[in-house]
Amino acid sequence: MSPLLNAARGNHPCHCLACGSAGMSRRQFLCTATAAAAMAPAVALSLSSPAAAQQSAGAAGRPLLLKGGCVLSLDRAVGDFEQADVLVEGNRITAVRPNIDAAGAETIDATNTVVMPGFVDTHRHMWQGILRNVLPDGSLEDYRNLVQRTFGARYTPDDVYAGDLFSALGAIDSGVTCVLDWSHIHNTPDHTDAAIKALVDSGVRAVFAYGNPQNENGRFWEMSGHKFPHDIARLRRQYFSTDDQLTTLYMAAPSAAAEHILEAFKAAREAEARITIHVGVGEFGRNALLEKLNAQGALKSDTTYIHCCTLNDTEWKLIRDTGGTISIAGYVEMLMGHGTPPVQKAIDTGIRPSLSVDVETSVPNDFFHQMRPVLALQKSDVWARRLSGDKSPPKFLTAREVLEFATIEGARANGLERKVGSLTPGKQADIIMLRTDRLNVMPMNNAVGAVVTSMGPQNVDTVLIAGKVMKRNGQLVGVDFARLKRLGDEARERLFSNAKVPPSRV
Ligand SMILES: [Zn+2]
Repeated sequence: MSPLLNAARGNHPCHCLACGSAGMSRRQFLCTATAAAAMAPAVALSLSSPAAAQQSAGAAGRPLLLKGGCVLSLDRAVGDFEQADVLVEGNRITAVRPNIDAAGAETIDATNTVVMPGFVDTHRHMWQGILRNVLPDGSLEDYRNLVQRTFGARYTPDDVYAGDLFSALGAIDSGVTCVLDWSHIHNTPDHTDAAIKALVDSGVRAVFAYGNPQNENGRFWEMSGHKFPHDIARLRRQYFSTDDQLTTLYMAAPSAAAEHILEAFKAAREAEARITIHVGVGEFGRNALLEKLNAQGALKSDTTYIHCCTLNDTEWKLIRDTGGTISIAGYVEMLMGHGTPPVQKAIDTGIRPSLSVDVETSVPNDFFHQMRPVLALQKSDVWARRLSGDKSPPKFLTAREVLEFATIEGARANGLERKVGSLTPGKQADIIMLRTDRLNVMPMNNAVGAVVTSMGPQNVDTVLIAGKVMKRNGQLVGVDFARLKRLGDEARERLFSNAKVPPSRV
């Protein structure tokens, strides 16, 4: 049992609406098995998790054999297989090859599927999971005003829990097995505890990136009641005393004056947490921030830079030379005014980007929709240069490279490349099976082409995280949808009322 679970179970008040009179755990929103055991002692309820309720490689001590799939390992040393098996023992992948003989293993038929590592998202504001689609036409300014300064300022810990839970379960459902929660909603420490609890309850592999609070004017440093950024020391002690667990710790450094950023960087490094920060966003991002931070010796290989659309050339070289990683949220950058997604710039600089959803307020939650804009944009740029007479245009990006951005490069930016991002024996078993016998891809001719060009969440048949089956036969395992829907509806109603936003849905 992880210290994170111990702490979450032992020390935290439940924020869910259903708890009051019944004394029930939030867990019950997820897990039918738990719901059925509602009369059991509270401690037993709080020990349940969707992961525990699922069939898994480890539960009965039996290995799990994914048999006969088309395997894309995304590890060039392991390679791809027209047909092969993947053996999972406990929480790890132990073999990837054809015709594995594993006596006693539980077998999952993987024929008619592509078997590959789960997608890895390096930047998603998961507290906004109950605000999906509120801004289909919004700009960055609209987003700041409505999502951060109107809704965010009024968020309760219960709202954070619901938002994170919906976002995490949506990620798993669409084949994203690892996600960095860029969590800038820590108006009080209770908000922080609620976010972490939701991530743990969901069973997703999460990087919790602890960020600033929200208020009506955006000047969070004027607020009282929050403990940003220094509460990260408590988080390290209380939840993240080991990295040998599904949830790990980052600092989400604020978009603010350099003094506030440097304070967050310092607190992060004292807590031995890696760092993620938005830079190069719109006009505001042309302020040579990275040059200023570099002058203070603050840029190191422990940092992921998000967006990077309007950075100058010196800043790009600083990221490369200090060993930083980057995250491109191509779809939202094109929608909301960040600047052109810097796909070619990253490649020219020698940096392989990771990808991210960013905000579900304007962006679909799956990774199929992240890969395509990045591929199309880079190729559009190259075609335009060729058409304008450029005799030495860049090479075209390939579908496989984009698939690497969505998996192994994401793992690198999330500090987890030794654990996930490819089907490599010894790594954790974060695996997805994508159906190829569906009308959007059949008959299947090219596995990478099918995944990057044509598939969607409807192809996600099976999802494993650390060897546990989170989704099977197209259905999330252990989730009580009626209860979940009620949690979401109640959170939405409460939040819109508190924020004085008309609740109309049309
Ligand atoms: Zn963002």
